Amino acid sequence: MKVLKFGGTSVGSAESINSLLEILKEAYARGEKSIVVLSAMSGVTNLLAQMAEDAEQGINFTPALKALENKHFAVIKQLIKIKHQNPVFTQLKIFLNELEDLLQGIYNLRELSAQSKDLVVSYGERFSTFLVSKIAAQYFPESLFVDASSLIKTDSHFGNAKVDLPQSKQLIQTFFQQHQAHFLFVTGFIASNEQGRITTLGRGGSDYTAAIIGAALKAEAIEIWTDVDGMLTADPRLVKKAFPLPVLSYTEAMELSYFGAKVIYPPTMIPAFMEKVPIVIRNTFNPTFPGTVIQHDSGKANFPIKGISSINAISVINLSGSGMIGKAGFSGRLFSLLAHEQINIILITQSSSEHSITFAVQPADAIKAKKLIETEFELELLAKKIEPPVIEENLSVLAIVGENMKHTPGISGRLFSALGRNGINVRAIAQGSSEYNISVIISQIDLSKALNAIHDAFFTALKKTLHVFTLGTGNIGSTLFKQLVEQQDFLRDHNGIQIKVIGISNSRKMVFDPEGISVASWEEALNQQGETANLEEFIQRMQKLNLPNCIFVDNTASIEPTKHYIPIFESNISIVTCNKIANSSRYATYKHLRDTARNYGVDFLYETNVGAGLPIVRTLKDLMTSGDRILRIEAILSGTISYIFNNFTGDVSFHDVVRKAQALGYTEPDPRDDLRGTDFMRKMLILARDAGNVIEAEEVQLGTILPEACLQASTVDDFYTELQHADSYFNALKEQAQHENKTIRYIGKLENGQVTIGLELVDDQHPFFSLSGSDNIISFTTERYKERPLVVKGPGAGSEVTAGGVFADLVNAGM
Ligand code: ADP
Ligand code: ASP
Ligand code: MG
Repeated sequence: MKVLKFGGTSVGSAESINSLLEILKEAYARGEKSIVVLSAMSGVTNLLAQMAEDAEQGINFTPALKALENKHFAVIKQLIKIKHQNPVFTQLKIFLNELEDLLQGIYNLRELSAQSKDLVVSYGERFSTFLVSKIAAQYFPESLFVDASSLIKTDSHFGNAKVDLPQSKQLIQTFFQQHQAHFLFVTGFIASNEQGRITTLGRGGSDYTAAIIGAALKAEAIEIWTDVDGMLTADPRLVKKAFPLPVLSYTEAMELSYFGAKVIYPPTMIPAFMEKVPIVIRNTFNPTFPGTVIQHDSGKANFPIKGISSINAISVINLSGSGMIGKAGFSGRLFSLLAHEQINIILITQSSSEHSITFAVQPADAIKAKKLIETEFELELLAKKIEPPVIEENLSVLAIVGENMKHTPGISGRLFSALGRNGINVRAIAQGSSEYNISVIISQIDLSKALNAIHDAFFTALKKTLHVFTLGTGNIGSTLFKQLVEQQDFLRDHNGIQIKVIGISNSRKMVFDPEGISVASWEEALNQQGETANLEEFIQRMQKLNLPNCIFVDNTASIEPTKHYIPIFESNISIVTCNKIANSSRYATYKHLRDTARNYGVDFLYETNVGAGLPIVRTLKDLMTSGDRILRIEAILSGTISYIFNNFTGDVSFHDVVRKAQALGYTEPDPRDDLRGTDFMRKMLILARDAGNVIEAEEVQLGTILPEACLQASTVDDFYTELQHADSYFNALKEQAQHENKTIRYIGKLENGQVTIGLELVDDQHPFFSLSGSDNIISFTTERYKERPLVVKGPGAGSEVTAGGVFADLVNAGM
């Protein structure tokens, strides 16, 4: 025999009742014997409670009563054959009249006790169960409606009564013994006290009813049919990637539900545990899915934790003072005081010095708890042995749960690094001594971000989601989008990474979508849904969205975004950029950026500042962190200059090579912007700084390529004229090179903390001798690479390789 409990959504409409019937019919056809426990139709318990409160306030409750009637009558009309409808209408009408009298009484007296409220809400389960039993009777004539209030006995704590399990067990066994021939439909949630007054088992209590019955009758299983595929790794409304767990232990299910996993009511586990009856959580709307089994054994572990749950709103009360130190009875007095007044304490932490105690309660209990403490400890307060209690609000608690945590080191490390990296401040921590649970109290505004970040950190087999905000849609920006579209499947399958672009802005427009912009059509999104661009607002919106694993990508060459880097780091957002401006400005800025990123535990990645996509910055960093010592760096880091000298051979004049380079789009509109070497200088400056040198731009010795007259020419045309005049100078250089069997190179050098850049003739022994096209090359001579330097060579410009470098940084920032 099984007990099948169907929750509010499973009886919430004619369609869902049909799904429920299908499940019953199939079980019936298999010859399974079941007892069905039902909740009120979804929303009805809340509505009834509201009606009772309205009546107490003198607010007219009749429209709500009418709505309630319509809701149930509509189901009768849809699911019961016309000729059988009348008796059902009649019985429901009787219930409704009783309810109306009751509400009228409350209205007249303007008085609502907990006892009357329980009686009012109890109609929800009675309506639904009676109704469903009559619908079912059309298929199973032995169907019988059972009001469980006579079978489950409790104390008189209305609203959340404590069940007398032995007495209830007896009553249940006797009743079911006598009704073996029937197919029973039993009300969930409701019970009665010694005097026979209706009580309720606490919100969500129908699950508990099912477990009490299942345990009393030693059922084969207690099936909790709801609207999700089982107990999920996290609340699916807050964590989209949550997935169903096949197996949980009773303890794990208890911990998860206690900390907010609403899918099952925590006390449900107790009777099931005592009688070793498995609980199975299943989906009424996906009945072939096996769901979650809750049993003794926690099952095979795929992940170090089972799940994460959370309570959105809690209040914390802090008590501190010297009077608490070493006073054995203090916390005993405190907590029995609160227990006596039925204040539920969600979590307690105490500092080891015993100087302070922090505990969490429901927000509705906070003021009452504070007042109780102030009265109880009046003398201690007067004597200043304790400080007045302080309430903190707008907090949430989240807990990670799993029996395997006990055997796995590093769990709390992973938890706190996920929180730290995302800038989530932890107010208090509690770890149960069983080590099945670690709970942290955080700000309510951080809850969703924290849950998602922790979910990503523990369920690593799933995709980690990076939330990206990009600035700049020029060559590099748009190529990056193209590459993102091409690579997204690969990244998902091979790196477990999902990249969601949440915001895009260029200098004209900006667009946001917290669910992720479709990058394939970024242009339409920007043009059609975009608003007028505003950099400050773009950054503020990014900060406000407070998303986990957040990365800001600056694909501009403008100074404006760089002014915001520090506050971006301070919001725990990483930065990836090809923009050289910040790194090549004053050394103090360079240093401040790194220090801030480090302090906030975020990444600052700028591989494309030097040599586009070539792994130069990363190689240098790896050499440094592995303890190697840089002796010398030599580099050619201007693709344009490379191209020009590589093609300045044979008969061709220098002037013609520059013209050709410009025609091919390899130069800036004024080729002198390349040939002056300033861009090269910036790259060398960044490398020198990354190699540990404190150096400013003006300290770089920048040798020129061009004769003074070329530099002085006022227009680009004049410049070309002057360049023609300088042909003999360049030809002489070329001839000298040919004569000595060398090539002309414009080389940057870092040695002894000094950076020099200038023209050189190199022989065929030099690694820079044979360089082709617009390639960049860099050689690192280090303690380890002394004999044969470490050389990186390849294309150092172009939007494909640069965007590729930004992309690689993006993925690295997410690791
Ligand atoms: P019922 O009406 O069937 O009793 P509830 O609303 O009480 O259903 O519980 C089911 C809901 O619990 C789900 O729809 C889901 O939104 C929520 N929920 C919260 N945390 C979890 C979790 N960890 N796993 C599954 N569901 C959860
Ligand atoms: N109907 C009750 C409630 O909404 C009990 C339940 O659904 O489990 O809390
Ligand atoms: Mg429920």
